[in-house]
Amino acid sequence: MDLYEYQARELLEEQGIPTPKAIYAQNSHEVAEAAERLGYPCVVKAQVKIGHRGQAGGVKLAKTRDEAILEAEDILPMTIHKHKVNGVLVAEGKNILHEYYVSISVDRTSRDYDVLATANGGTEVEEIAKEHPEAVKRLHIEALDDFDLAAATKMAESIGFYHADVDQAAQILLKMWKCFKENDATLVEINPLAKIGDPDDESSKSLCALDAKISLDDNAAFRHDGWKRFADPLANDEFERRAKDHGLHYVHLNGQVGVIGNGAGLVMSSLDAVSGAGEEQGTGIKPANFLDIGGGASAEVMAASLEIVVSDPQVESVFINVYGGITSCEQVAKGILEAIDTLGGTKPIVVRFDGNAAAEGLAILAESNNPNVHVAKTMEEAAHQAARIAADAIAAKEAN
Ligand code: GDP
Ligand code: MN
Repeated sequence: MDLYEYQARELLEEQGIPTPKAIYAQNSHEVAEAAERLGYPCVVKAQVKIGHRGQAGGVKLAKTRDEAILEAEDILPMTIHKHKVNGVLVAEGKNILHEYYVSISVDRTSRDYDVLATANGGTEVEEIAKEHPEAVKRLHIEALDDFDLAAATKMAESIGFYHADVDQAAQILLKMWKCFKENDATLVEINPLAKIGDPDDESSKSLCALDAKISLDDNAAFRHDGWKRFADPLANDEFERRAKDHGLHYVHLNGQVGVIGNGAGLVMSSLDAVSGAGEEQGTGIKPANFLDIGGGASAEVMAASLEIVVSDPQVESVFINVYGGITSCEQVAKGILEAIDTLGGTKPIVVRFDGNAAAEGLAILAESNNPNVHVAKTMEEAAHQAARIAADAIAAKEAN
């Protein structure tokens, strides 16, 4: 789960990382109130779960109440890189002397944690990193190791934190690490970690997190009751919510062929096969969803999955693709028939089995003589059949 900036800031503040005062607002009236409370200049910032808001016109400085309102009225209706803006954050405007970049993330390739940092932070950090990779410093932290003040200080020195900033930077790196571990995050990024203050007054200068990006590991949600407050009202797909209640990994895709399979890789291939069939047949038929039922394809799981998939009004056929392992295809076949019974019928289903007792499973389905249950020998064949059935059903509806 990715957090909005206004939510990510909360987690940084809990660790005592300095951030500018800021207020979340959803309309221009709230923006005016927030700006009056924070004073001027203030910054009006689009809340979207995507970076580069600044370059897209989603971050604006306002020197008066009227300017804050005008900027908010510009930003609130925006869609940035396909993400609809969900409110704005009104923040104290700071005088920026320098912008650093720091992040901690899970590195799936090396199976450890990565601390990345550069003295060339800000909106152009990616371009600078490409042109001057040597300016970006990286520290691996072994999965079971800790990151301590000595390591943080060394890192702060090596990435070019200016002398006066090293101690505070090391403290902030340590606090980011705590934030990362305590919250089961997969990413904690601060860009810019800004040096702010009056250029003529050394004592006024300090580091401050002006932007925050945090992703949390959904698999750890069960041990973080507090995450409920981050639930995104914009991302509330009815089907995804119901699937989640059943513990199913489902993603709604808005096509016409429902897809159910076991194993993320197999389901992904099934989606490709359906799209490919739709293209080859010239119908533009697409998969309606991703649904991975995991290892144990029991009748209950199959019933819940089928129910969710066929309740999508766009779905005209369902492609079930199962590789029998510990759960044999024979059991899965029985599960499918029980599920159809429980639901009192179904939209047309095309089943492809492979692995443990595949032939037996297909035989059980064939013997059921249910006109809505079709069997196929290969994934390609099943995808083509499901796509064809969906296209025919749509054509029949249009003819009526
Ligand atoms: P992003 O574009 O989505 O990464 O949004 P940021 O929150 O990082 O803002 C983009 C840029 O706006 C920053 O790199 C800063 O240069 C600038 N910015 C953000 N907050 C302030 C502020 O308080 N004062 C000033 N002067 N500039 C700011
Ligand atoms: Mn940023």
